Amino acid sequence: MQTYRNTLNGTLVDPVSCYEIFNPANGQSLGMAPESDEQEVDRAVQSAKLAQNSWAKQGDKERRDVINRVAQILEENSDYLAELITREQGKPLSGPGSRFEMQACVGWTQVPASLDLPPEIVYEDDERKDTLHRVPLGVVAAIAPWNWPLMIAIWQIIPAIRMGNAVVLKPSEYTPIATLEMVRLINQVLPAGVLNTVTGDGSIGSKLTHHPEINKIMFTGSESTGRRIIEASAKNLSPITLELGGNDAAIVMPGTNVKNIANDLFWGAFLNMGQTCACIKRLYVHEDDYDAVMAELSAIASQMKIGDGMDESVLVGPLQNKMQFEKVQELVSDAKTSGCDVREFGEVPDQGYFMPLTLVGDIKDGQRLVDEEQFGPALPIIRYRDLEDAVESANGLDAGLGASLWADKPAEASKLATRLEAGTVWINQHGAIHPMVPFGGNKASGYGVEFGIEGLKAVTQSRVVSLKK
Ligand code: NDP
Repeated sequence: MQTYRNTLNGTLVDPVSCYEIFNPANGQSLGMAPESDEQEVDRAVQSAKLAQNSWAKQGDKERRDVINRVAQILEENSDYLAELITREQGKPLSGPGSRFEMQACVGWTQVPASLDLPPEIVYEDDERKDTLHRVPLGVVAAIAPWNWPLMIAIWQIIPAIRMGNAVVLKPSEYTPIATLEMVRLINQVLPAGVLNTVTGDGSIGSKLTHHPEINKIMFTGSESTGRRIIEASAKNLSPITLELGGNDAAIVMPGTNVKNIANDLFWGAFLNMGQTCACIKRLYVHEDDYDAVMAELSAIASQMKIGDGMDESVLVGPLQNKMQFEKVQELVSDAKTSGCDVREFGEVPDQGYFMPLTLVGDIKDGQRLVDEEQFGPALPIIRYRDLEDAVESANGLDAGLGASLWADKPAEASKLATRLEAGTVWINQHGAIHPMVPFGGNKASGYGVEFGIEGLKAVTQSRVVSLKK
């Protein structure tokens, strides 16, 4: 059985202890993952600290070249890493699955490499000239989740190193293998110590975020862990970027041609079996359009093949882990016992964390499947009569990562868009992130943004040089 290893200071290290990783589609063993201890966390942070100095001193062009070579390595190893993602995380190779995740990794590496944050003259007159420089923060702790393990790790790693920081990454305990392999591969072109990993459960994440030499924390995950990260950051006054998921609402505006939008609505909700931070998690539909929406989504759901994502014809895989599987089952069973109209689609294999694609009608705000983030393939569809009520419902929860409006006349949706309390409001699409466009949450979905120029600024501190003329 293969034992995967952490990378510290450019070297693969033999683990002190290990734990086994299983394929969520069939329960088969995938190998052993290392379990870091406190000493290893400290070694990783010290390696990063040492490497960061010289990495930051390298010229901008050199850093950019190295990152472009990282993109090349990701591209060359896409098939290998995509297979590992499918076996470990569960998303299929095909469709918007693990190959798609690898394409995103490449794109989100190339774009930051192409961007610049040159010094900016913020004020000048006859007597003075003030120039704002963006300098690195130092060592970045990156805490990644299990839903898009490589893509989200790349979102954290690449802007950080582009701006001259060094990184210690902790993947989720559920999905360390593909991430460790990706880090091993890209370390072939990175200077030793610029990117290190530690592995284990949340307690290792906690040791990392509490380490006295951490200068910035980037976190994607649950709100409850996010609150612990904020507490940890108090120790070093580390700035944080927090992406805490959400409970995204989508509103189909009255009279919208449902046929035109059904496919995008479906994938907006069921991408990665719904285990995506910015998926549609509550769908609000005008009462006159409700039957049409149900019919169109049912037709699409009933055509999907559910199974092991290594099969090229499969577009829907298992949930990633038992915790998530049980959580979604519980929410669906609550909806069933409350008398909702629960419609299940797809033939589900006997073993693995598979669930049917589930549409839940006759459900209202205040019920668990609507109010709690399901993070799985069970979509509540809620009728509304008055568009104002739908807007109020969409804004009625604490979460505010994404939201969307669906309309035949986008101009009408645009008028409403800024009233939705979310970091991104999409029109006639959902979750359509882009490496140039800032992405982050409002309200309890976190703070700070990733991507584009704003994302680069978030991994720097400003230093003003003020000259008397
Ligand atoms: P967590 O927030 O616990 O996990 C995210 C990452 O944080 C993991 O690497 C985890 O490690 C790490 N972590 C856990 N505790 C700490 C800590 N005290 N200090 C530092 N790092 C820590 O999410 P879960 O996996 O428990 O999932 C719970 C729910 O969160 C899901 O049901 C879903 O609703 C939501 N979620 C949202 C995501 C998003 O994209 N926004 C992604 C994943 C989950 P480890 O996993 O090893 O414990």
